[in-house]
Amino acid sequence: MNILGAGQCGTLLAAMLARHVPRIDLYERGGDPRCGVASAGRSINLALAARGVRALEAAQVMPRVRPLLVPMRGRMVHKLDGSTEFLPYGQRDDEVIFSVSRGQLNQVLLDAAEEHSNVRVHFRHEVRGFDPASGIARIRDHAGGSDIEVGGPALIAADGAGSVVRNAYASTGLIGATEARLQHGYKELTIPAAADGTFQLDPGALHIWPRGEFMLIALPNPGGDFTLTLFLPNEGEQSFATLLTEDAVEALFATNFADAAELIPDLCRSLISNPLGLLGTVRCRRWHDGDKLLLIGDAAHAVVPFHGQGMNLAFEDCVLLEQILGELGPQWQQVFARYESMQLANANAIADMALENYVEMRDTVRDPKFALQKALSFELERRLPDRFIPRYSMVMFHAEIPYRVAKERGALQQALLERLTRNAGRLDQIDLDAAAAIVCAELAPI
Ligand SMILES: Cc1cc2nc3c(=O)[nH]c(=O)nc-3n(C[C@H](O)[C@H](O)[C@H](O)COP(=O)(O)OP(=O)(O)OC[C@H]3O[C@@H](n4cnc5c(N)ncnc54)[C@H](O)[C@@H]3O)c2cc1C
Repeated sequence: MNILGAGQCGTLLAAMLARHVPRIDLYERGGDPRCGVASAGRSINLALAARGVRALEAAQVMPRVRPLLVPMRGRMVHKLDGSTEFLPYGQRDDEVIFSVSRGQLNQVLLDAAEEHSNVRVHFRHEVRGFDPASGIARIRDHAGGSDIEVGGPALIAADGAGSVVRNAYASTGLIGATEARLQHGYKELTIPAAADGTFQLDPGALHIWPRGEFMLIALPNPGGDFTLTLFLPNEGEQSFATLLTEDAVEALFATNFADAAELIPDLCRSLISNPLGLLGTVRCRRWHDGDKLLLIGDAAHAVVPFHGQGMNLAFEDCVLLEQILGELGPQWQQVFARYESMQLANANAIADMALENYVEMRDTVRDPKFALQKALSFELERRLPDRFIPRYSMVMFHAEIPYRVAKERGALQQALLERLTRNAGRLDQIDLDAAAAIVCAELAPI
């Protein structure tokens, strides 16, 4: 079997499917990141949540990943006046998400894949083209300076959001892919560790500076530093298009992110010279073509990063595909068809929720009603844990609840929360017994 792309998804998939197929060849455009070649990753660190943890456990790599993780218990909201407010993500001790380095995780997964004697990883092999009629990919071997052809049955394309394979289907109409570019992009910055090696912000939180149309976030790294990401419109008055001079950067940060600005060395030069990342959502009508091909991970369903779920979803893909392969054996057409019928609606649901979460992170989180509804939803969950689980918790902490269910259920719960908090400013102004009775009457057990 051939897998194209050795990112987070392709490597984990190879490690998992090696238990079922006689041989796997994994082709990657970049060099081996374990040999000091810079990773092709688009963000330095990622939030790992329950779905990702479940997949890493299933692949038996979690003991090697755990030392790389920094737990984050909630959001630290930095307000314009410089004050901060901590909003917990969950209410149980284990309801945390983890910051992990994209590069380090990728290296662990490459090791895990290569530990299987039937897996070969071919670095500096770039997919240059794909022929949907024959199912053959044309690959440039940059080390050997030649072209090779690889095909199926069961070619799996994990070549990321800009997938060459997916794009090759554009004229056939079979996959029916659409790409919706977000009008906002991002740039990354760093807050280094203090001179004594300690963190300069609380490492137990994901920090957010929500400013309405834009925001800054920061995730901790194990070395004591933070990676910051500035999300801003690409065009317009306050945008990356106007953030081209030191004066413009200084003005933006002095007005909106003064506490962070003090901690970022060489802020203006870094921000101006760092690359601008683009964001978007990829949706497909289908992910497979007979037994020839399956698209997986970002190649099938790139989502915007505001729920921190793109990699978690890609890892969930691997668990599901392995499970179905275990049940059906290598009947690839049936395996791919069943996988697609079970996962497509979930990918669309998290794509929608990720877009909604951008508005929550940059704007709604500032509204006192948001904190009240969060407090009420925790209270309802405490009283009725089988009927009310906050939507964020369903997505991040409950790998057993499909994204599709979290979205549908979340909409019903949100309507209820809005009704119950309409005339209240504080939790003690709400009749909690009556609220619980309404939940019991209107929501079936999850
Ligand atoms: C700013 C940002 C922040 C994010 N934060 C989070 C987060 O907190 N949590 C989370 O779960 N997700 C997050 N994501 C999403 C996450 O990065 C992706 O969903 C995840 O990396 C998908 O894995 P993948 O293997 O499908 O794709 P990729 O990681 O993109 O891997 C694709 C691989 O294919 C290779 N490749 C590409 N083209 C070719 C070719 N032509 N030939 C051969 N090889 C090729 C690439 O080099 C790469 O190694 C974030 C994304 C961004 C942009």
